[in-house]
Amino acid sequence: MKAIRVTQHGGPEVLKFDEVPRPKAGSGQVLIRVQAAGVNPVDTYIRAGGYGKNAELPYTPGFDAAGVIEEIGPDVEGCDKGDRVYTGDTVTGAYAEYAVCEADGAYSLPPNVSFAQGAAWGVPYATAYRALFHRANAEAGETVLVHGGSGGVGSAATQIARAAGLTVIATSSTAEGRKLVEENGAHYALDHSSPSYLDELMRLTENQGVDVILEMLSNVNLGKDLGVLSKFGRVVVIGSRGNVEINPRDTMSRDASILGMTLFNASQPELQNIHAAIYAGLENESLKPVIGKELPLSEAAEAHKAVMASGAYGKIILLP
Ligand code: NAP
Repeated sequence: MKAIRVTQHGGPEVLKFDEVPRPKAGSGQVLIRVQAAGVNPVDTYIRAGGYGKNAELPYTPGFDAAGVIEEIGPDVEGCDKGDRVYTGDTVTGAYAEYAVCEADGAYSLPPNVSFAQGAAWGVPYATAYRALFHRANAEAGETVLVHGGSGGVGSAATQIARAAGLTVIATSSTAEGRKLVEENGAHYALDHSSPSYLDELMRLTENQGVDVILEMLSNVNLGKDLGVLSKFGRVVVIGSRGNVEINPRDTMSRDASILGMTLFNASQPELQNIHAAIYAGLENESLKPVIGKELPLSEAAEAHKAVMASGAYGKIILLP
C-alpha cells in the first residue's frame, strides 16, 4: 500500500510517499481502508523531533482518519466489515491507504457525514470538548473566548460552545477567518492581530471579562488572557509554542485558574463520553466539521507547511 514514511526527524521534506506492506489487525483491533486523513499541528511537532510524544523511527504519521472497516482482528465485537468509521488515534499511522486502530477507538460515522469531515474531528473536536467540559467545566450562560477560532480546534470549540448555550467570542487574524467563526456560531468575531481587540472584548462583556478562555497560542497570549478573565475565570492552555511571562497577581485577584491539557491524557471512559457527545452533535448537525483544504496523500509535505502557516481556515485533509 501507499503511505507517508518518516525515516529521520526534520522539516516537511522528510515526509516520503512510499510503498509499504499492508498492516494486519491484531487482537482487539480493526483495519481501516482510509478514505481521508486529518492533518494536525502535533503531526508536525512529532515529525520535527524533540516533542514529548515522539514516534519511533521509521513511522507513518497521523492520528485522525476516516474510512471503512476492511478487516476485523480476533476478540472484536460490535462492528462489521464495511462499517463507516473514524478514529482519532491509530496504531500504524493515518497517512496511509490502510491503518490499524484499536476497535474501541473506531467510532461510527453518521451517514450524513463525509469521510473528509470524519477525518476532521477526532483530535480537534475531542480536544475542544475536553477543554470546555472536562477541564474548564464550562456551563450554559457563561461567556467563552476561543482565542484562535478559525482553525481545527477553534472551529470545533466555537460550534460546541454555541450548541451548549455559551456566549462565544472567537478570534482570527483574517477577514475570511472571522467570517468562518461567525458561520460556526460565534456571537462576536475579533481580530487577534489588532492592537485594540481585547479592549473591544472588555466592551462586549461590559468590563466583566470572559468566564472561560480556550487558548491556542499560550506563549503569545497567556499573560494578556489573565487580564480579560472574569472573577473565577478559567484559561485552558490547549496550544503553546514557547515561553511566556505572566503576572501571577492577575490570577489572585480573580481566583482564576490556568488549566493545562493534552488529549493524550483522556482516559478511555472520558473518550467514550466525548465521542458520544460529538456523535450526537454531528447527527443533529449542530456540529459540522469545516474542510479548508484537501490534498492528495503524496502532498503531505505541503499539508505540513500549510498547517503551520497563519491564515488558518478549518481543517487540512489528505486523500489516499
Ligand atoms: P490550526 O488549525 O493551525 O489553527 C490555529 C489557530 O490559532 C488559528 O485560528 C489561528 O488564527 C490561531 N492563531 C494564530 N496566531 C494567533 C494569536 N496570536 N492569537 C490567537 N490565535 C492565534 O491549529 P489547531 O489544530 O486548531 O490547533 C491549535 C493549537 O492547539 C495548536 O498549537 C495545536 O498544537 C494545539 N492542540 C493541542 C491539543 C491538546 O491536546 N492540547 C490538541 C490539538 C491541538 P489565524 O491563522 O487567523 O491567525
